[in-house]
Amino acid sequence: MSALFIDGGWRQAVGGAVREIHCPADGSLVATVPEAGPEDAELAIEAARRAFDTGRWPTTSSLERSALLHRLADLLERDKEEVARLESLDTGKRIVESRYDVDDIVGVFRHFAGLAGAESGRVVDTGRPGVVSRVVHEPVGVCSLITPWNYPLLQTAWKVAPAIAAGNTFVLKPSELTPSTAVWLMRALAEAGLPPGVANLVLGAGAEVGPTLTTHPSVDLVSFTGGLVTGRGVMAAAAPTVKKVALELGGKNPNIVFADADRETALDFALTAVFLHSGQVCSAGARLLVESSIHDEFVDELVRRAELIRIGGPFDDKAETGPLISAGHRDKVEAYVAAGIAEGAELRTGGARPDDPALADGFYYLPTIFTGCTAEMSVVRDESFGPVLTVEPFDGEDDAVAKANDSIYGLAGAVWTSQAGRAERVAARLRMGTVWINDYHPYVPQAEWGGYKQSGFGRELGLDGLAEYRETKHIWHNIDPTPQRWFDGAEGV
Ligand code: NAP
Repeated sequence: MSALFIDGGWRQAVGGAVREIHCPADGSLVATVPEAGPEDAELAIEAARRAFDTGRWPTTSSLERSALLHRLADLLERDKEEVARLESLDTGKRIVESRYDVDDIVGVFRHFAGLAGAESGRVVDTGRPGVVSRVVHEPVGVCSLITPWNYPLLQTAWKVAPAIAAGNTFVLKPSELTPSTAVWLMRALAEAGLPPGVANLVLGAGAEVGPTLTTHPSVDLVSFTGGLVTGRGVMAAAAPTVKKVALELGGKNPNIVFADADRETALDFALTAVFLHSGQVCSAGARLLVESSIHDEFVDELVRRAELIRIGGPFDDKAETGPLISAGHRDKVEAYVAAGIAEGAELRTGGARPDDPALADGFYYLPTIFTGCTAEMSVVRDESFGPVLTVEPFDGEDDAVAKANDSIYGLAGAVWTSQAGRAERVAARLRMGTVWINDYHPYVPQAEWGGYKQSGFGRELGLDGLAEYRETKHIWHNIDPTPQRWFDGAEGV
């Protein structure tokens, strides 16, 4: 498969390397794709630079960009089943979840289609007759867009859609593990009419091509979604050339349950919060805080239900959650659980691979719950990005807020209570980019998404979703210039 898309054409990697993509649910071969190296990344950046500097795309009208994004959304609706299938094969996630993802992505394209056509600047009243002053928005330039494997096309859409809406050109690098829907996207963008060179795709290992994408002097902006450690490196790599940087990083998200919460709903959502997609969700509610008076009873029931969760592959109708993305990632989750046990946390369930022989070829891991956790433990502080829940008791609002905020992360969190006042008080005090009250996980493209603290900076989606992808210029036009005579002496008047 020729799957590097550079300057409007499909090509193999310069070095001829390829990578096999295997489904994490059963190890079956999904695709063989070119494996790019730094030279391919350079070619892609140069193509994007040319398209920006000499092509027509950056000066297309906002209406044209809006129409293109609507066409893209139409194509995704047409290809929904194919795209969902590709996403499930690459990630191992249930096909039903991939279909939800596709619906979300259609919404993201349409949201940015709306923003693209909505506002293109404003006139400023200077109070000076004979002066027309206006503020206009312009694209930033060449963008490196780097995305993770957990929601491959969704995370990509959050970057590609605003980049297009604002008139940028870009090089996309999806995770090496999940390239298939990015390939679909390039095909769809060409079909929708995006000029050659505006969208470029480089497949390959982050460690190999990432440094070129984050340091190259022709790149103006790096938008990165991924882990905290990689994100720190991306920020440092982009610093010498002062690129604009947007980071969407990890989270260790508290899910706070007060004794007065609706018990059944809070239990049900506590499971979904952490075990959806086997915990491979940046906003996963992996840190459960339960009010002391109901802690034991709540946890007993949670453990009972966690043990009933059905695990299976993407096309198994009965499966409720799937595999981890790779053997390497499962190793990391196993090491994280081992550290929790060594630190003295009590393993209440899970902590092992399932023993079902039908799952032996996939990278499955049982839903895992630790109790007796304290804030110093690494299992409480660090993100596992797997199906691992830590539980801590708390007493009252102040204690809940203090514990929840005691984290380097600040991506998301939730509070469960039947008291509206308490819900609002706690939500207002949580230092997180998203707080759910009596709910977990939903998002809408109309609202901003992003982290506080080391969960990153910059905001994706929302009404400001274009802010990072465009420059803002003030144009002052003196339409009736006359001599000022400030330096009459110098001019010999
Ligand atoms: P990752 O290992 O940090 O990788 C993210 C992306 O960066 C991948 O495309 C990766 O390529 C690439 N990369 C690796 N090394 C690089 C380098 N030196 N320079 C430039 N790019 C490099 O993260 P992941 O394991 O894919 O994703 C999981 C993390 O993403 C979790 O921490 C999760 O919380 C976070 N996440 C955050 C959000 C959010 O909205 N805040 C959303 C989703 C996920 P390779 O895959 O080829 O190595």
